[in-house]
Amino acid sequence: MINLTNKIFKQVPRIIFGEGSLKRLSEVLPADKPENIRLLYVIDAVHKQTSLPSKLDLKNEDILLFVNTAKEPTTIQIDELKDSLVKDKVNPTVIVAIGGGSAMDIGKALSVMLKNPGSSSQYQGWDLVKNTSIYKIGVPTLSGTGAESSRTAVLTGPDKKFGINSDHSMFDAIICDSTLLKTVPADQRFYTAMDCYIHSVESISGSMINEISKAYATKALELCRNVFLGDGDDDQLMVASFMGGCSVVNAEVGICHALSYGLSLELGFHHGIANCIAFNVLDEYYDPYVEEMRSMMDKYGIKLPDNVCKNVPLSGLDRMVQMTLKMEKPLINALGESWREAFTPDVISNLYQRM
Ligand code: NAD
Ligand code: ZN
Repeated sequence: MINLTNKIFKQVPRIIFGEGSLKRLSEVLPADKPENIRLLYVIDAVHKQTSLPSKLDLKNEDILLFVNTAKEPTTIQIDELKDSLVKDKVNPTVIVAIGGGSAMDIGKALSVMLKNPGSSSQYQGWDLVKNTSIYKIGVPTLSGTGAESSRTAVLTGPDKKFGINSDHSMFDAIICDSTLLKTVPADQRFYTAMDCYIHSVESISGSMINEISKAYATKALELCRNVFLGDGDDDQLMVASFMGGCSVVNAEVGICHALSYGLSLELGFHHGIANCIAFNVLDEYYDPYVEEMRSMMDKYGIKLPDNVCKNVPLSGLDRMVQMTLKMEKPLINALGESWREAFTPDVISNLYQRM
């Protein structure tokens, strides 16, 4: 069994937390002469329609890159963005990534790719990045993925959805300002928050857990309960997301993520809703948490689509199963080293057909 108990516990070193904290961004810039600091803001394009840009203390030389997140980030998108930045001689010393998991991951991936040769698809995996990346600051405007605290930049490639997992893809600082969540639609807020809930369940239920990760996951679950079954607010949701991310980056996800990647790859479901759809059939593995998610859905009037694989041809179903089987670490975490004996292609296919 992989023993992660003695692994170095990774965390973002500098965090500013609290309503209105975005205006303190200058406090987490690297210590350097102002003339040496060239900022590239990578911002979810949804914020062309919000007041967020007006809250930034922009200088003439700052560059704003609005990124489209209608689809989750792809390796092709990152490679194209990198090429055009290089062509335009944009040579930032700091990247500020503002948005949900997608925009934050684009910022993280660009910070790696502007300092490393080749295509981003070459770095999907664990610890494949050689060169130090650009200093980066994360600013979540949607909470739950934990991308702000994780070591991953998740990208969809031609045949797999996989993260660049590296110390170089971790933020140097984050700013958690809950006023930035105000414009998030209610259903999106729920789905992305459930990503945090499920990260915490999977990490706490797995064999790769350690006491620090367990403490983070336990608190993240409590905060999710407060928010969705009690009277918790967006500050609590932001802390839950951060803690769920800390927990999972130092432990592992599990069966739900292994299945949800297949749903995103083949059917294009965004990560949050894909997780909810997958988790909803995993009573056998994760009860009573599955039941608890259903009570949160009831309270928030969330209805998941059903029978989502009904039009998927056998070849598509097979690609989804193959994607799940690639998620070896999460499956070892959830089911042990001999996971292949119990979690066969038939079992996986059956789970997909029940979604
Ligand atoms: P997202 O970033 O894809 O955003 C979902 C939608 O919400 C988009 O339409 C976006 O424009 C909108 N949005 C974001 N902020 C908003 C705001 N303040 N107001 C209004 N709309 C807003 O969603 P997500 O669930 O945060 O991220 C999903 C992505 O994160 C996936 O690609 C997933 O694979 C990845 N992910 C990464 C990690 C990690 O550790 N890096 C962990 C989990 C998931
Ligand atoms: Zn997730």
